[in-house]
Amino acid sequence: MSLAHLLLRQAHLTSERSAIFHGSEPYASYGQWAARSAGLALRLRQAGLQPGDRVLLFLHNHPRYLELLWACWWAGLVVVPINAKLHPREAEWIVDNAQARWGFVSADLAPDALAGLERQIDVDSAACDALLAPVADAFAVAVTERAPDDLAWLFYTSGTTGRPKGVMITQRNLMTMGLTYFVDVDAVSADDAIVYGAPMSHGAGLYAIPHLMAGARHVVPLSGGVDAAELFALGWQLGPLSTFAAPTIVKRLVDHVEEVQISVDAAAAAFKTIVYGGAPMYVADIERALRLMGPRFVQIYGQGETPMVATALSRQQLLDAAHPRYLERIASVGVAQTPVQLRIADEQGRELPLGEIGEVLVKGDSVMAGYWRNPEATALALRDGWLFTGDVGCLDADGFLTLKDRSKDLIISGGSNIYPREVEELLLTAPGVAEVAVVGAPDPEWGEFVVAFVVAQAGAALSADLLDRHCLAQMARFKRPKRYLFVSELPKNNYGKVLKTALRERLASELA
Ligand code: AMP
Repeated sequence: MSLAHLLLRQAHLTSERSAIFHGSEPYASYGQWAARSAGLALRLRQAGLQPGDRVLLFLHNHPRYLELLWACWWAGLVVVPINAKLHPREAEWIVDNAQARWGFVSADLAPDALAGLERQIDVDSAACDALLAPVADAFAVAVTERAPDDLAWLFYTSGTTGRPKGVMITQRNLMTMGLTYFVDVDAVSADDAIVYGAPMSHGAGLYAIPHLMAGARHVVPLSGGVDAAELFALGWQLGPLSTFAAPTIVKRLVDHVEEVQISVDAAAAAFKTIVYGGAPMYVADIERALRLMGPRFVQIYGQGETPMVATALSRQQLLDAAHPRYLERIASVGVAQTPVQLRIADEQGRELPLGEIGEVLVKGDSVMAGYWRNPEATALALRDGWLFTGDVGCLDADGFLTLKDRSKDLIISGGSNIYPREVEELLLTAPGVAEVAVVGAPDPEWGEFVVAFVVAQAGAALSADLLDRHCLAQMARFKRPKRYLFVSELPKNNYGKVLKTALRERLASELA
């Protein structure tokens, strides 16, 4: 079995049905998609690529993304999709680390040839057209058999610290992820459509799998990115759409709804389901999103090492406002997804009693096979079948997981643990605060003290004094920031995650 069989199956079932859209224009039916992917698979094989060889995908969101992924799987190859915002030097580092043979690249991302590739194909060139030319009979091109533990995708971690690591994601991991979507995230029918706003090299692209399993439509915006007005327009034409979005993108959609006064009904016509995850969603933000866009949110927590599958907070749970622990629940990341077990453990991996805070461990069929050519990192991350996520959190009696922070982001002041997230949640409820990130700074007396970087809403007059009073009114004194830095924006990585490491560096140079 291979992921490529999913495409063959749809081509059998619904060959004529529209599968891929570029903007609002049909781009390929399921039959055409299969014929092009089979054509490329054949040519990759003829060119000497062997099952298990790596192929780099360094392109903007593009309808060809889907054809390339499935062509590679058809030929038994391993895809290495990387973020289009990477610098060519970073891409070359990955080419070298992954020992990728061929690369499909958007020309503007790498104007010069990337060192290390045997062949680099501009995805918008005639050469790429020729490689993807459809075969007359896709069913005549055999799919290379793959075992469940064979690699399908090398996912380079976003690397908020240090060099990215290649996460080895297997066929089994992706099949599990795809099927789990239907149980824990959302029902999907062939009438549904998913839109790729966030990078297809990451979670958004992975969700092509459940949508292909269901024979749904796949929509790639012409802008290739997140333009709220474009996404709503596409939604009203082709939707309602489903999408995966990091919390910063959700915020952008909700801001747009407010700015141009889109009603809840109109939002419902554009979006069926918005799956959010990848970074903390603050309570104030999800409440506002639910208020302005209605019941169309589902949260997932996962990481490259267990792609899209660790916990989920369902649509129903997000709506159950009458529940006595509703606020705790919407601040949580939900309960274990069906194919995994969760455990909270101490540093030695020993299970901690219920309610205690420790490292989050995950076990199940979504968990990676290890890090590519990095046995040391693999041995640290995978122990006795458990994935050590590096996230810190606690479970309640009903199985809801609340994430505190990455262990490295924890602040220890006067021997007490301070979770930046808690301080951030509170500051976000202060009038005039748009965004906030809290980090620790070294303190000779206390070990560390709390510093808040704050972005003010347009026109808001904020002061350290005002925010201090806001904190004092609701939070233990020792947790409150001793210093506020007002900034115009927060540094974020290519996936929209706040780079706390960069903030700590900036702070160090300011304090020096
Ligand atoms: P990545 O491997 O780049 O997808 O990053 C995964 C990390 O993002 C996790 O280990 C968490 O620290 C964080 N993350 C993912 N989903 C959530 C979520 N729903 N809430 C808070 N943090 C999350």
